[in-house]
Formats: sequence, structure tokens, C-alpha cells
Amino acid sequence: MTAPSSGPGAWDFGAELRAVDAAQLRRRRRVIDAYEGVRLRIDGRDMLSFCSNDYLGLAQHPALVQAAQEAASRWGVGATASPVLCGHSRAHEQLEQELAAFVGLPRALYFYAGFPANAGLVPALVGRGDAVFSDALNHACLIDGARLSRADIQVYAHCDVDDLARRLQASAARRRLITTDAVFSMDGNLAPLPELLELAERFDALLLVDDAHGFGVLGPHGAGSAAAFGLRSPRLLYMATLGKAAGVAGAFVAGSADAVEFLMQRTRSYIFATAAPAMIAETLRASLRLIAEESWRRERLRELVRMVREHAHWPPSWRLGDSTTPVQPILLGSNQAALEAMRRLWDQGLWVPAIRPPTVPEGSARLRLSLSAAHATDDVRCLLRAIESWDH
Ligand SMILES: *Cc1c(COP(=O)(O)O)cnc(C)c1O
Repeated sequence: MTAPSSGPGAWDFGAELRAVDAAQLRRRRRVIDAYEGVRLRIDGRDMLSFCSNDYLGLAQHPALVQAAQEAASRWGVGATASPVLCGHSRAHEQLEQELAAFVGLPRALYFYAGFPANAGLVPALVGRGDAVFSDALNHACLIDGARLSRADIQVYAHCDVDDLARRLQASAARRRLITTDAVFSMDGNLAPLPELLELAERFDALLLVDDAHGFGVLGPHGAGSAAAFGLRSPRLLYMATLGKAAGVAGAFVAGSADAVEFLMQRTRSYIFATAAPAMIAETLRASLRLIAEESWRRERLRELVRMVREHAHWPPSWRLGDSTTPVQPILLGSNQAALEAMRRLWDQGLWVPAIRPPTVPEGSARLRLSLSAAHATDDVRCLLRAIESWDH
């Protein structure tokens, strides 16, 4: 007799979950009881974290906590409606102007989160009869946005501008949109943005750049990857998230005034969703000031990245990915190898997450080492020593 189905009708959730376990793909959440910077308290244990995307160490900055408290007193905690109804406050308005100025583009539109931003922006820009050209390692929200758009989806080989050029050349689509992570979230490498923009110019396309991991970290005063390359073009749409280096929550897209106005009119995840609370917008305004002023945070990061890259004693079967950013992947291959490495580090009080498919391609499971300005050099030294001390 077969085991009884553990879900209603066509859904056998139990069997699905057993299949997830068999593939070593079960994701577990750890409950954090308290934290301070990169020090986390979990199940009564103190852990040193290399997981978070709080690259600049701003998420608990006293100036931001104070800004949030004052803004909550002034505005309350909820935005009450979509921005196109009555959810758009003076705080949101000022934040958008400051974001645009921060990245050096004419106008910005602020979203409550990055995933729905991209999932909505792509379908606002292209539809049936159009084409999206998407880097093979793009973030899930760009992929889902492309699927939602009903445009033809052309996945080009990772960072391969020749493959992209061939696909653009061969395309008979009415309109063409190139989408790319600026800093790839699980690899830490940079997209060839100037070459991509050149192709956009040559083939009458738009370039939508997702700088979730570059904003605040790269470029002059942390203005991000596009600013780091000095890119300016009416064909560039720059999107970044604000829950990572900015330490708060949300996202924005910036570009020409007309493009951004058009996106406001057409992006369903913007129009049909409650605005982020004004207190979050105010907190982000304070965060922008810190990102620009406290350049020592970016310097600290560069120093920590250098420490990891120059470390000589990696186990022979480990390969450090080719990244100059705070995302340092250690490629291990199998899910089992990545989980085993994570467990060994965990037992030593070090939390470096194992990343498995579908977040990364099959067979490229890895440890994703994420550095923060909140790490002391001794924290990184401690991690490197721990790895060195194993028998391999
Ligand atoms: C985190 C991330 C997002 C999603 O942003 P959220 O604000 O967390 O929803 C989008 N794109 C990339 C590349 C990311 O890493």
C-alpha cells in the first residue's frame, strides 16, 4: 500500500518535502534571539556571522534608530495606501529627490522592496512582441519579471557580450530590454556595464541594471556600480535595493524624468501595493547621509576583501570565486560538500551560509562569504584560521 497523501487532492506536500530533503535542498531558518553587528545569539550560542548583506554595518546604527524613532513619532508606522492614492508623504518625496541626486540621475522612484520592483519593472517595459535579454546568472526577481512580461526571453551566457550581441543582432523584436545584476549576488563579480550599455546604444535597446550589491559599496561616495563606471545614458535604468548596504528596506529605480514617470504609471507592483511606511523613508534619508559621509566603511570593506583574497591557505579542493566585492564565494560543487563545510564552521561558532540550487546553477554549490564593515580584521582572521586548521 502507498503511504497516504499528506495534502489535499493533487497536492502531496509530504512527498514533495521528502524529495526536497533527498536532494539536500531543505532550507532551514535559524531564529536569531539578539544581535549586535555581526555577532548573533542563536539557541543560547554566540555566533560570528558572515551571512548578512549589511555590507556597511548600518542596520543598527544609532543615527538610523533615532531617525526611525523620530519618524515614527511624527508619521506613525503605516503608509495607509498605495503611493498613487494617499501613501506618498513628504518623506517619500524628499527621499526620491535625494536618491536621484545620490546616484546622479534625473529622477528616482522608491519601492517598498526590490523583488516586487524588478518583477514589476520588466513587464512595464516590455510585453508580447518584445524581447528581454537576461544574463544567465540574474537574480530571481529579474527572471520572474521577464516571465511575467510575456516577452521573448533570451538568456545570454554569463557576462558574455559576444553572445548578447549575436542575440540582439538576430532579434526581430519590436523593443529590446537587456537586464543584468551589476554585482552578481552569489558570485560577487561585476557585469561588464560599459559594454552592455554600448550594445544597448548599438541595438536600440534599454539596459536595466540591478545594483542590489553595489549600491553603497562601489562608486564615488557609494553611488553604486553605474557611477563607478561613470555611465550616463537615457538608455540606462538604474535599480538598487535599500535593505542591504543601506541597512533599512526598499528599493528604487532611477533614470530620465520621462522614463521614471512612465514607470510610475505602468508598474503594477508600484501602483497596486501599499507604500513603504514614511518612517522607513525618513530612516533611509539618514542612511544616505551616513553612506556618503562615512567612507571609512568602504575602506574597511576593501581591506577585509584584500585579506580574504590574499589568504594563501585554502584547502586544495576549494576555489575562491573571481570577485573584488564583499561577496566572496567559495565554490565547492556538490550540495553535500557545501553543507558539510557550513556545518563544520557552524560548530566553531562561525556562520557562513551554504548556497545551493536553484539559487546557483546545479553542481556549483558554495559557501557565500559576505563581508561587512562591522567585521573587525580579527573576525576575518578567525574565520581564515578556522578553515586552515582543518585536516583536508
Ligand atoms: C536582494 C536582491 C533583490 C531583492 O531585493 P529586496 O529588497 O530584498 O526584495 C533584488 N536583486 C538582487 C540582485 C538582490 O540580491
